[in-house]
Amino acid sequence: MLDSNMKPETLAAQALGWVDPTTKEIVGQIHTSTTYIRDADNQYRNGRVYARDHNPTFEQAESVLNALEGGGQTLLFASGMAAATAVFQALSPGDHVIAPKVMYWALRNWLKTFAVRWGLSVDFVDMDSLDAVRAAIRPGKTKLVWIETPANPTWIVTDIAGVASIAHEAGALLAVDSTCATPVLTRPIEFGADIVMHAATKYLNGHSDVVAGTLTCSPALATAEMWTRVRAVRGQIGGIAGPFEAWLLTRGMRTLFPRVRTACANAQRVAEHFAAHAGVVEVLYPGLPGFAGHAVAARQMQGGFGGMLSIRIKGGEAAAIAVAANTQLWKRATSLGGVESLIEHRSSVEGEGSPAPVDMLRLSAGIESADDLIADLEQAIASAR
Ligand SMILES: *Cc1c(COP(=O)(O)O)cnc(C)c1O
Repeated sequence: MLDSNMKPETLAAQALGWVDPTTKEIVGQIHTSTTYIRDADNQYRNGRVYARDHNPTFEQAESVLNALEGGGQTLLFASGMAAATAVFQALSPGDHVIAPKVMYWALRNWLKTFAVRWGLSVDFVDMDSLDAVRAAIRPGKTKLVWIETPANPTWIVTDIAGVASIAHEAGALLAVDSTCATPVLTRPIEFGADIVMHAATKYLNGHSDVVAGTLTCSPALATAEMWTRVRAVRGQIGGIAGPFEAWLLTRGMRTLFPRVRTACANAQRVAEHFAAHAGVVEVLYPGLPGFAGHAVAARQMQGGFGGMLSIRIKGGEAAAIAVAANTQLWKRATSLGGVESLIEHRSSVEGEGSPAPVDMLRLSAGIESADDLIADLEQAIASAR
């Protein structure tokens, strides 16, 4: 195994430097066994009992991500949604949580329906305002603040350290959906977060061929009752990834750094190119100096501002949909964080309550040539006008 003080890019590229002690292979096996032998005296000294809780293929993916996030423990789930909802299910009916107005839409819908029916009270606030977060705290009642930064689909930036201190003062935990920042750009635990969540479906795996999610706790939270409950939710409800998905995820994370850095550079080029374009109303991207959250993003994102941006097209909803219809290279599809560039009209996907303007297209920059990506958008805008 590599020295854990090595740089994250080194730890990722070699999946912590793991080598199988028996075969000497450098790529782990896909472990499919659902059960493990007990010792003759009825003990389980190897620590594994049954595959709803224990699987060596998960453990490899979990330990790579845990090192990249600087966490206390990482748990792999069947999807980003299974991971995120496990945090809320570890709370108790009557608890109050604060969530962002701008966030991953399916989780917002779940909070508004299932979580509320189950007895959580949820307030949605403007997470780019620390005053709004402070005002939403209910002393003694607020147990969790959930943030996402940069936040889907308008890329609002939240000050992680600022919200962490407000949450902690109130005795609440801070959880961060860091899917779009990735540990390449931001390590939320260093800014005071207690839990980091990823839709591993996106950048961590990176190849649009795995659905998975993760939760990482801070070293301090690893021994807390709350984290024990989160682990119990996974084990009891069984929202676990399959061994093949876990294996693909470890494989994907080996190239996380170069993929994310290329996606960031491409997004920055595209954002700058279209920022003052005649066919464009506005480009939403944390890497543009004029963007509202730019200064906070520059403080808490290192080496780039992410691969995600949104572009508002002149001519309204019909023009935006026509631009998406005319792209060749940018694939018209949902999801994000893969090596191929994707484009999507979000307001028609998210429906009522979406913060996405109707003239807005969401773009996930892949790792193709930035010149080709820009040329394709140029021709799509020109033919839609
Ligand atoms: C995709 C996504 C999720 C949900 O992850 P799934 O793996 O699709 O369940 C959560 N948050 C963000 C920011 C996402 O992009």
